[in-house]
Amino acid sequence: MTLAPPATRPVCGATIVLPASLVVRAVALATAHGGAAAEDVERHLRCLLQAHKSNEHYAFVLELSGAETGAVWARWEAGAPSRFVLKVLPDCPATDQVTHEPCGEFAGHQGGHTYQLADGSGLDE
Ligand SMILES: [Zn+2]
Ligand SMILES: [Zn+2]
Repeated sequence: MTLAPPATRPVCGATIVLPASLVVRAVALATAHGGAAAEDVERHLRCLLQAHKSNEHYAFVLELSGAETGAVWARWEAGAPSRFVLKVLPDCPATDQVTHEPCGEFAGHQGGHTYQLADGSGLDE
């Protein structure tokens, strides 16, 4: 029996609150993918990328219905919350080979996959 090595790569963990005006934008982006309700929009955003040096953070905002539709993600810059950008991005296709846990990030993200990172908050439990 082989145990997976402990995850030692920390997540970024930067947090920000999504402005109400962007909740409306996120719902509008979802209308082309079957629609969504404002209550479904995640407003307490947390960057779960591997800790990074760039000041561009990404956080999951809204799941889109359908299998291959991806999700709405927010990008923001540290210290410049007015520079929020919302985009629909496809899911990262990576899956842990041992646990089969899918990566929770978007395709093409920087750093390690979510299942390779140590998230001190315990949200992954
Ligand atoms: Zn970040
Ligand atoms: Zn990934």
